[in-house]
Amino acid sequence: MKLQSIIAATLSLTGIAASAVSAEDLLLTGAHIIDPESREVAVGNLLIRDGKIAGRPDGRPAGFAGRVVALDAKWVMPAFVDLHTHSFGDAVPGGRPDGVGTPVIANHYLYAGTTAFLDLFGHEQGLMAMRASQRAGEFGGADLYASLSCLTAPEGHCTEYGVPTRTMSSPEEARASVADLAGNKPDVVKFVYAQNDDMPSIDKATLVAGIDEARKHGIKTVVHVQTWQDMRDAVAAGATAVTHTPKGEMPADIPALLVAHGTVSIPTITVHNEYLNYFFDSAVLEAPLAQELASDRVKAAYRDEGMIARYKPSYDERKARNMTTLRSVGALAEGGVTVLLGTDGGNWGTVQGYSVHREMIKLSEAGLDNWQVLAAASTGAADFLGLDYGVEDGALANLVVLDASPLDSIVNTQAIALVVKDGEVVDRETLLAQPE
Ligand SMILES: [Zn+2]
Repeated sequence: MKLQSIIAATLSLTGIAASAVSAEDLLLTGAHIIDPESREVAVGNLLIRDGKIAGRPDGRPAGFAGRVVALDAKWVMPAFVDLHTHSFGDAVPGGRPDGVGTPVIANHYLYAGTTAFLDLFGHEQGLMAMRASQRAGEFGGADLYASLSCLTAPEGHCTEYGVPTRTMSSPEEARASVADLAGNKPDVVKFVYAQNDDMPSIDKATLVAGIDEARKHGIKTVVHVQTWQDMRDAVAAGATAVTHTPKGEMPADIPALLVAHGTVSIPTITVHNEYLNYFFDSAVLEAPLAQELASDRVKAAYRDEGMIARYKPSYDERKARNMTTLRSVGALAEGGVTVLLGTDGGNWGTVQGYSVHREMIKLSEAGLDNWQVLAAASTGAADFLGLDYGVEDGALANLVVLDASPLDSIVNTQAIALVVKDGEVVDRETLLAQPE
């Protein structure tokens, strides 16, 4: 998109925002209302006005002319947010990715009860144009937030995909790059810091300078780390979040370090270990939500006998490694670290939208209680993006209605009855339409 059309799209945003306010009022009646922040469940009605929660009236308010939806004791909670994805499409082991594009993926996310996602690297100009286009109302689905670029060393991780990205070799270059990127309004700045990788990495001083520059511009930072020492360095450098879970047993000092600096963890357990389940646990891809959201090519790739044979010899070793990952994430949460949901969609073992629910199961397996998991997936993740998700008055009315309680079993997050976004009931079936 040319700069002028980006400006035009951005300007038309004002008009869209004004008209959205006139949406019909909505009254959800007879619901179990789950509040992940207060850890309370109430039974009652939820009034939604102008895209926000507007109270819990005992009955239909006097003069109410909006839409009433009887929830028949179903369970309503704040919708989900994925804080780590790449929204170009889904990966296909052994083949080219399904590059269906951000608008289709935005629909898949929304179908899965996820109303916002954070893209942590794609084509910078393309993502800017997408974001402007979506905000101008040209396509819908879940809301796109983006780091736009990935700041890394020359020939470092992120440069291998054939997508232009920002590289830097010194603190001065990091500052200049962040300052320039800030003009494009990234929702976060993403850095790759991986000292022991096969690929080059920026050094500590460069990371420190880049994070400091982002802070000066009031932008949060997410640092991709590979080892526990990378994580220590990123935390000390002032990263808002670290993403991924390093291999090996977590050193004992890590949780207190993150807590002391207020750094949050986006562990992305899914990208580390879900491919093994896709290959060897057929139930995972046979879940209804997976069947609806995964393409035929994705499904076939994980049933490919050659691929399965390739991973079979190392199955036990990989499984053991996965258990270590779960232990580490559990210990982070146990140590008081804020753990938030991210999937690293766009890679192996992730189906965008569905993997949000799989990450919740993995966080549960790691030892987070169901309240912690729901907060990590909804209110906590939204808060990271500066969004007020919740069921209290004034919160954004981005909600998911479930047929069964996710507090009884986290698997029930997949039993989606209804999705509400910006105060309106979403027509979910239209979201699965294939692009022309
Ligand atoms: Zn990623």
